[in-house]
Amino acid sequence: MLTIFTYFEITLLNIDSKFRYLQRFMNNKVHNFSAGPSILPDKVFEQASSAINNFNGKGLSILEISHRSKDFMDVLDEARSLAIEISELDTNKYTCLFLQGGASMQFLMTAYNFLNKNAAYINTGSWSTKAIKEAKLFGNVTEIASSFDKNFNYIPKDFSINEDYDYLHITSNNTIFGTQFHSFPVSNCPLIVDMSSDIFSRKIDFSKFDLIYAGAQKNLGPAGATMVIINKELLDKVQRNVPSMMSYKVHIEKDSSFNTPPVFPIYCILLNLRLIKQEGIDSISEKNKIKSEFIYGEIDRNKCFSGFSEVSDRSQMNATFNINEGFDSELFNKICSNNNISGINGHRSVGGYRASIYNALPLESLNVLVDSMKEFELSQE
Ligand SMILES: *Cc1c(COP(=O)(O)O)cnc(C)c1O
Repeated sequence: MLTIFTYFEITLLNIDSKFRYLQRFMNNKVHNFSAGPSILPDKVFEQASSAINNFNGKGLSILEISHRSKDFMDVLDEARSLAIEISELDTNKYTCLFLQGGASMQFLMTAYNFLNKNAAYINTGSWSTKAIKEAKLFGNVTEIASSFDKNFNYIPKDFSINEDYDYLHITSNNTIFGTQFHSFPVSNCPLIVDMSSDIFSRKIDFSKFDLIYAGAQKNLGPAGATMVIINKELLDKVQRNVPSMMSYKVHIEKDSSFNTPPVFPIYCILLNLRLIKQEGIDSISEKNKIKSEFIYGEIDRNKCFSGFSEVSDRSQMNATFNINEGFDSELFNKICSNNNISGINGHRSVGGYRASIYNALPLESLNVLVDSMKEFELSQE
């Protein structure tokens, strides 16, 4: 009796998970605007699911194979070289690592390795502020510019970099406030960038940077891996005794396998990088431009909403907006949930709404959001 019952339960569970899987592809699919962990291409979910059951047709799950196995080492090699290839960087000069600890670990790891005397930071939001806090544990930090005065709704432009800094650190896209650098500061010192939320979303000259880091869960893969692209010449500048796990040099010497790397997240990132390469950054760039113009167009047109950030500094990845005074936000929330829109609440430090429109977000989902904004406006006549 017990076994029959258990079998019945398992069958129900299976049907339930199949149904959820199907839902993604049917009319009632959820439109996911989450800022992170966030949407990935359906193809990544399909291929990753299949590798959980049977990886490379070897009868083992990707979750149970050795990180030293040939099958996984091929995954790691391909992911590392695809990242450099997509960035159009010189393979002799740059290398790619997949580390753990999130972008937050990079806040201290960059400083631990490279802050010898004085480093420059541009403070454009919560993440920059956190990076600055960690860096101060290792040396002197000069905040050469900040947009704190206006709750980080713009990217500062009036600043000079005249001293000899160990490096300059910036956050290319401010996930929480919805601002983005559309051109990058020029300086004589190495440039370090937190590109967590706009990595591979637009055509840029990656060779301007000496170290690029990105927590995967915004535009690249699932949480658990952080991509680091580093100019190996930077290693000559390390003066401290850095513990192995914090040392870029050690991770590079061990081919990003000093300890067990995050196997499954790296595999998912590889699946996504293959798609990025196949489509090409130019096409992705063009699509993201169209998508962001579409949503900001509606924010500006619709009398019920206002954009949060300065128009010239708007992020192409995270569109932040507020409901204007006198309009009923409860009703807008209800319209959104009726239309299966998920994850558009603004971050608690900004309030309002934030539509994260990463690479994998289809135009169709954006259409549903824009229609919901229009539906709301009509209801307020
Ligand atoms: C999310 C985010 C982080 C923090 O990433 P973790 O992986 O959670 O440490 C840092 N910087 C930016 C720009 C982010 O969007």
